[in-house]
Amino acid sequence: MSIDFANPSAVLALNQALLKLSYGIAQWDVPPGYLCPPIPGRADYLHHLADLLSGGVDAAIPRGPSVAILDIGVGASCIYPLIGVREYGWRFAGTELDPVALRHAQQIVAGNPALVGLVEFRQQRSATAIFQSVLAPCESFAACICNPPFHTSAEAAAAGTHRKLRNLGQSQSSKPVLNFGGQPAELWCRGGEVAFIRRLINESVRRPQTCRWFTTLLSKSAHLAEIEHVLASVRATEVRIIPMAQGQKQSRMVAWTFFPEPVGRRAGALRV
Ligand code: SAH
Repeated sequence: MSIDFANPSAVLALNQALLKLSYGIAQWDVPPGYLCPPIPGRADYLHHLADLLSGGVDAAIPRGPSVAILDIGVGASCIYPLIGVREYGWRFAGTELDPVALRHAQQIVAGNPALVGLVEFRQQRSATAIFQSVLAPCESFAACICNPPFHTSAEAAAAGTHRKLRNLGQSQSSKPVLNFGGQPAELWCRGGEVAFIRRLINESVRRPQTCRWFTTLLSKSAHLAEIEHVLASVRATEVRIIPMAQGQKQSRMVAWTFFPEPVGRRAGALRV
């Protein structure tokens, strides 16, 4: 059997099968034109997060609804909460700028009884805010996760979609298949992923107790030095860069904390 990854209906059907088989999610889709996420890569981020929260000891992975995770930009697919609830029993709050995406994510949760009560949503009204106005002053989480919009403009996002399709063997002249790559607004923000992550870091400095670990994906290796530089300047207690790879795609998770280092932690024991 082979899957035509350039065909959005094929990718949607594959995702539905994977979510049902691996996570018991029976009701799932994305609205036409919205990002249809590759499931294994999304699961990988959560597994790396579980390792981070466990301090590198498998048996110590924290599980259950007392572990609260904040998903910044949960998306119409609600993909991280679905996997995180089913795999680790975690509880999620998802923020989202796009009201259509937010409504759809709510419908996915309502359609799957195993998720009800474990995933809640917050509408973010400002494109440049991350925690502001969606969190109560003292709210705290084990971690935040984020797959930021990474392009700097709608044109760059469209070019990215063309490139993906070309790599999948679709001719350049063929009509762009939108829900392969996602809504332009899901894929870009002013300043791209660097500006988004800079805002996340700046807000984390103002609310250092909000998350035990602040984490985000960083798509382009060329952006790493700048982000590391910003993190060095805010004096996080610890910064981790955790490489991730799925097939030919190389990515990385950036994680930082302002919590005091645990006494007696073996130097380097938690390096990934
Ligand atoms: N988490 C999903 C979607 C990632 S796309 C996945 O991994 O597939 C990025 C998402 O962030 C989009 O849904 C976009 O609408 C949302 N977004 C953009 N700016 C935001 C902000 N300031 N606060 C919350 N969500 C935002």
